[in-house]
Amino acid sequence: MRATTKEHSFCILCLDPTLPLTDEHIFPEAAGGDISDFILCKSCNSKLGHTIDAAFVNQAVVRLARATYRVAGKQGHLPRPFDDIFMAKDGETSIRFKLDENWKPTVVGQAPEISFVDGLFTFKMSLDFADEAKIPSIVRKAVTRFFKNGDGKKFNCTDQQIEAVASAVIAGRPFERSVDSSFTAPFGADFDVLFAEQAKVIYEICCIEFGLQYIESRTGSQMRNFLIGQSSKEPLPWNVSDVMTRLNSVAVVIPPIDKLIDFLTQGKKHEYHIALVMQTGVVLSMIGIAVAYRFDAPIVVADMPQGFGKVYISSLNGAKTGVFDLSEFIPAFCEWLSLQGRLRVVPINDRLTWTAPPGHL
Ligand SMILES: [Zn+2]
Repeated sequence: MRATTKEHSFCILCLDPTLPLTDEHIFPEAAGGDISDFILCKSCNSKLGHTIDAAFVNQAVVRLARATYRVAGKQGHLPRPFDDIFMAKDGETSIRFKLDENWKPTVVGQAPEISFVDGLFTFKMSLDFADEAKIPSIVRKAVTRFFKNGDGKKFNCTDQQIEAVASAVIAGRPFERSVDSSFTAPFGADFDVLFAEQAKVIYEICCIEFGLQYIESRTGSQMRNFLIGQSSKEPLPWNVSDVMTRLNSVAVVIPPIDKLIDFLTQGKKHEYHIALVMQTGVVLSMIGIAVAYRFDAPIVVADMPQGFGKVYISSLNGAKTGVFDLSEFIPAFCEWLSLQGRLRVVPINDRLTWTAPPGHL
């Protein structure tokens, strides 16, 4: 889907007007993004993809969202948000297991352990229930190895005796019951990585919507320099809260705008990437993690009415995706607005636009 019909004539990152432009997914494709535009040269496109986008997509919180909303990667695989090996204990027994992409546990098999102590022969192994049919052959192999080459060699068993032991092990029903246990898994979020992606999305949207006015502005060039630094081979260390302050960004969205995002996503903002574009800045929420970005001064676009508002919305659940004028959400939006005291409605030329309270995003 093209984000805009505007023609771009140069790469918005390196600003080189001679390079052909390539299709860039504004919200990363691997994170369910479905809005793209020809705004970056090939080299800048892949640089941002391999650094900022890749780091974002590999975040545990993004993998969890993709697994939850079934957003498969290019090869059709769903990510496994919990891909460690976990341990469940039940009394003396502990079982190692993995969770698949549906979070279904699968026992990680443990090789057979055979011991012969004080006349007592013990055979121990663990296997997922789905592999039950493999038990006879695994047991036979392990028992034979034990008596022919292992500690059992000293008994000089005949093949028939070995077979008798193996059959007895196979016939003795495997220890089989549900393990009633809970487990804990570490789960973290790297805010530097999340913000770098948010900055990339905001910068691209602002370039598309406001063109040169934004690209040449102080705020635009600050954002661009940050992204060039972050996508370089050796990014300098940085501190997310300092950078956010320098780039006029805060992780807090005022309640009326937060409610507007709730309205536009039917209360399911975790299932969407959504950006509200205004003359004063952009509020972005990616899988429910939001940031508000303010321009130094409002950017007025000549052919757009005052209070111009655009919505970039990309759903992870197959619902509404695209770039819309806020007025396209009329009349549901009007009805919703009438319930909100703090947003001002400005009707211009039969179009309904809106502005946030002054001084806020
Ligand atoms: Zn470029």
